[in-house]
Amino acid sequence: MTVAIRSNDNEINLLRRSHAVVPGGIHGHQDVKLQWPGAPQFFSRGEGAYIWDVSGNRYIDLLCSYGPIILGHRHPAVEAAVGRQMLQGDCLNTPSPLFVDLAERLVSVVDHADWAMFMKNGSDATTLALTIARAATGRKKILVAKGAYHGATPWCTPNMNGIPEEERANLVYYSYNDTASVDEAVALAGSDLAGIIVSPFRHDAGLDQELVDVAFARHLRTVCDRQDALLILDDVRCGFRLAFGSSWEPIGVKPDLSAWSKAIANGYPLAALLGNDRARDAASSVWAAGSFWFTAVPMAASLATLDVLEKEDGVSRMNSIAATICSGMAGQAASLGLKVNVTGQPTMPYLTFAGETDREWTVRFAAECARRGLYTHPRHNWFVSAAITEQLASEILDITGQAFEAVKRAGAPT
Ligand code: PMP
Repeated sequence: MTVAIRSNDNEINLLRRSHAVVPGGIHGHQDVKLQWPGAPQFFSRGEGAYIWDVSGNRYIDLLCSYGPIILGHRHPAVEAAVGRQMLQGDCLNTPSPLFVDLAERLVSVVDHADWAMFMKNGSDATTLALTIARAATGRKKILVAKGAYHGATPWCTPNMNGIPEEERANLVYYSYNDTASVDEAVALAGSDLAGIIVSPFRHDAGLDQELVDVAFARHLRTVCDRQDALLILDDVRCGFRLAFGSSWEPIGVKPDLSAWSKAIANGYPLAALLGNDRARDAASSVWAAGSFWFTAVPMAASLATLDVLEKEDGVSRMNSIAATICSGMAGQAASLGLKVNVTGQPTMPYLTFAGETDREWTVRFAAECARRGLYTHPRHNWFVSAAITEQLASEILDITGQAFEAVKRAGAPT
């Protein structure tokens, strides 16, 4: 593929330096080898709906740092709260009062939650959820959906290099939205079932996304009640993008534990584990600690983020603008005779070209969008933040329209 973004000596130089001192150059999903040839590897600035790479190219940001940016980069209310707390200190010996304020706020916003605990990354929250489910039940087995992403720790990383099989010895796998496979996994776990972890919808990397079947979600709740096991909702990616509360509130299914991170502090490092009273004693009995887990600045950012989302009815606004973008893209592709799948929730859409073998047209489409100033991702769902106005949605659709025409000219199948 020949489409490339302009890169300058600065970017090339950074890559060369990084390869000299960081194994592999860049690790994890932030390595743009997973994107398109020539995708920018380093960004230097973000403001509102825009990001700038180190070569000076500006993009409308539809990846939002893989989820954390929900109000737009450097939202003034969040930055003001951060600035105020920075003047007081961030990393203190014990939590600041904001720790209690934020726990109270999350408990009041999320319907199933009676308590909150804080940490840094989504992986911290999902891993602690498993520990608490095991402590609460005195059992070991956890049911996990095949192919689901729950983080980068040994029990769940998608890459088994360096991971002993034993790390997975107490996991039993089911298929998302498949109640029969859950029943089989429950039978395998037998009397040792501690809990079931599930994402609000199926958002596995590189695959068309699948919304949750409400009967499936209810079945998980019923199974957990019947077996006296805990239901864990991994809301790390979806939290506050589907609902102002747990992502399963709209369908009326309450988990016992929910893991949060990404958007809860508009880009500042924070994760939370929320739970109900059934899990409270177990939660206070396990060892849960990290040197930076109680830093005050991200908590200030989180309180401000929740205030803005609530006052501006951000979740509904994002969803309605995002729905316009999704239906607009589907219409553009259809009018050119291109067969695409736009899947997922509107605020977390993903676009693929039907019938391709190695994401070649999906990759090409992302590259064509980036060339015109729109940053998406060919192998990960996108995120539509509250900084995307109707005006920007129409600019986004201008770009996607041109990108569809370009891939059609390049030979994408019709
Ligand atoms: N769960 C889900 C659903 C996620 O999307 C992610 C991150 N992509 C995680 C857990 C892990 O979060 P983190 O990268 O912050 O550890």
